[in-house]
Amino acid sequence: MEHSKMSKKELLRKIDELEMLNRELLREKESETKLDFAWTGNLGHWYWNIISNTVVFNPLKIIVLGYTMDELPESVGYRFFTDRLHPEDHDATMEAMTAHLRGERKVYEAEYRIQAKDGSFKWFHDRGKITQWNQDGSPAFVAGIVFDITEKKEREEALERSNENLRVTVDTDALTGIRNRKAIMGELESRVIQASINKTPLTVIMLDIDHFKRVNDTRGHMFGDKVLKEVAGILAHTLRGLDTVGRYGGEEFLVILPNTDADNAIAVAERMRMNIEKFDFGDGFHVTISGGAKEYKGEDETELIDAADQNLYAAKNKGRNQIVG
Ligand code: GH3
Ligand code: MG
Ligand code: MG
Repeated sequence: MEHSKMSKKELLRKIDELEMLNRELLREKESETKLDFAWTGNLGHWYWNIISNTVVFNPLKIIVLGYTMDELPESVGYRFFTDRLHPEDHDATMEAMTAHLRGERKVYEAEYRIQAKDGSFKWFHDRGKITQWNQDGSPAFVAGIVFDITEKKEREEALERSNENLRVTVDTDALTGIRNRKAIMGELESRVIQASINKTPLTVIMLDIDHFKRVNDTRGHMFGDKVLKEVAGILAHTLRGLDTVGRYGGEEFLVILPNTDADNAIAVAERMRMNIEKFDFGDGFHVTISGGAKEYKGEDETELIDAADQNLYAAKNKGRNQIVG
């Protein structure tokens, strides 16, 4: 708006606003606060006049968001930024500011994403403080400094992704793609703790491929590996919900069934046994598995696995291709 077209009241308000900003800039100059911080990502200062709800800021923040200064409304209010906040960051950011305005927090500080003109989100680290008050003690002016931390956040996210990939690699058995012994034992440890605290049932099943040595001896080790992979896949696909399976040893698999008593676990193991029995590994080749189940009754992990192993041994002795619980 051209000043010549302003009413006297509007002009007085404009003067008030400018005076406030001037006071602020003067205060900064006096305290030798520099606007040209060399810190990475620094976009400079912003000033929010609460009374007129106008925001004055370094053009860099707008450039980062893909806008030019000409594209901005004549008067930029607080909402120009808050309207573009990422939905996940909106409430926390607003709360950080209102808590500071209410005097509950010494500074306003927030990390948030703002949607740029092209639709992408940029990360900012923002910090501000009330610097001037009205006569009634309410906040009149807030000054802050904002950093573009998009690159830093992207690096962090990439690192998190690669850590996650690494964790999966460390926990996965290379041949079968299911959990390895270390991972399934870690899982068992936490399931035992949960079952003892929550007093919920928990059952483990030890499964072992029958006469697997013969598979290797007659068909070769490579074929043996293929059978192991297929068996692991069938076991994993037969499980649901919280149930997990890991490769415990060579051709032995440990199944953990939280919230499941022995009877229900044996039913699951039977399903696994039948799915393996009917699977054609090529040229009509079939294998069978035997299993031993044990419901948790307060023993430690080793005792639990030993008991399941004893049942597995019994299943082998009784002629294989069966589950004992
Ligand atoms: P049972 O019915 O009593 O379990 O007989 P089995 O032949 O399956 O038992 P045994 O423990 O005597 O043999 C297990 C075989 O599993 C011997 C070993 O060579 C084979 N094996 C273990 N790990 C692997 C593997 O990673 N790949 C292949 N191909 N074979 C393996
Ligand atoms: Mg074995
Ligand atoms: Mg075996």
